[in-house]
Amino acid sequence: MQRTRPDITGMTQPVRCLRCHRGVYDLGKVEVTARYTDCSMWKTPCCGSVVDDRGETGWTSRKGYERIDPDNPYGWREDVDMYGRAVVWRG
Ligand SMILES: [Zn+2]
Repeated sequence: MQRTRPDITGMTQPVRCLRCHRGVYDLGKVEVTARYTDCSMWKTPCCGSVVDDRGETGWTSRKGYERIDPDNPYGWREDVDMYGRAVVWRG
């Protein structure tokens, strides 16, 4: 299966949706539906799930998204295996 690079061009805060695991959207452009003192909520443009940012502040383990590192958009991690060979896997 070929993994395509997520299109994060022009996004200020690209994130991957952890509800559908497919959507990639810009946190800086979401339409916030509710704002509380400790979190904001919004509807994901990909699958319409309502998520909030408490996963980032540690208030909940139900993270609705994960941030995408523009330099490492797949979230690959590099390491060496027990034989000293370079291995890469998704973190
Ligand atoms: Zn989604």
